[in-house]
Amino acid sequence: MKALITGGAGFIGSHLAEALLACEREVVALDDLSTGSLQNILHLMRRPGFEFALGSIMDEEAVDRAVAACDVVFHLGAAVGVRLVFEQPVRTIETNVKGTQHILDACLRHGRKALIASTSEVYGKDVHNGTGRFREDDDITIGPSIRWCYATSKALDEFLARACWSDKGLPVVIARFFNTVGPRQSPAYGMVMPRFVEQALQNKPLTVYGDGSQVRSFTWVGDAVEAIIRLMETRAAEGDVFNVGSEEAITIGNLAERVRRMTGSSSETVFVPYEEAYGPGFEDIKYRVPDINKLRKLTGYAPTLSIDEILERVIEYTRPRLSSRAPQGRGDLLGPLTWSSIL
Ligand code: UDP
Repeated sequence: MKALITGGAGFIGSHLAEALLACEREVVALDDLSTGSLQNILHLMRRPGFEFALGSIMDEEAVDRAVAACDVVFHLGAAVGVRLVFEQPVRTIETNVKGTQHILDACLRHGRKALIASTSEVYGKDVHNGTGRFREDDDITIGPSIRWCYATSKALDEFLARACWSDKGLPVVIARFFNTVGPRQSPAYGMVMPRFVEQALQNKPLTVYGDGSQVRSFTWVGDAVEAIIRLMETRAAEGDVFNVGSEEAITIGNLAERVRRMTGSSSETVFVPYEEAYGPGFEDIKYRVPDINKLRKLTGYAPTLSIDEILERVIEYTRPRLSSRAPQGRGDLLGPLTWSSIL
């Protein structure tokens, strides 16, 4: 079986590629390298069964050829990171909506099954008032801030995918990822865990936005990958939406404290007003933790690592890289590699 992974050179995509190759599947990683990086997949480039295709989900013909050449599609390609969303809202909406439409259309044309990556952002504001966990059948409540364009575009992707299933019988599953973390996640797009770890290891101030009382749960990337592979293998998951996450909750203030302790850093913690971090009109989510019973019941999924165990691994991964930064640009890497002939 050959799997197409859009966003295959991204953080989650590259881990998924590894996991699929380990189960003897073939993989085509389609990525335009806008936020993904060849660095993430360099170790896979000469592995039998792995192909990298440089292309965009915005290119309808490229998508069509890539989907036709594979048996199943994991659609992870999207605009990522709250900061990028704020800076480039039009690009965010277009990438998420048109890109997903191209994938679904091609899957319909070629009769391919798809997993569509969505996000906990679609739950919007914390309607539970900080007391409950988000469940798949909760209402969606968003505000006027431009931040919510990301949630809206992903919610539209979900509805489009479900409509393709109910109207046209397309086998499709939707996964809502909750703050996925692990090695290879770039701090460049604002994600909190790699940022704190890098800051602490460099003895720079840890930048806690707001007062640090906002709550998150973190999903180990290996668990997220396991969850979506299981979902794709479960017929009863088709046409449905699943939270993919962990129920262990932590405040961002406590996360900063733990990172400091576990790295042995002399960093201080600074509290940065949201306005300063993201510009005017930013609205944070105070409490975001999933209820994962639906996923657990259907697939037997359970998170394997605690927050501390995840932090240990992220610190272990980051420490040596900060002392000797590997090359990042495409130019350094393109020459000697074998490219996919799919596109
Ligand atoms: N955050 C922070 N400092 C940072 C980056 C993020 O305090 O340097 C906060 C952010 O405001 C949010 C939480 O950490 O409350 C998680 O942010 P992230 O961007 O990782 O994901 P989000 O949950 O916002 O999608």
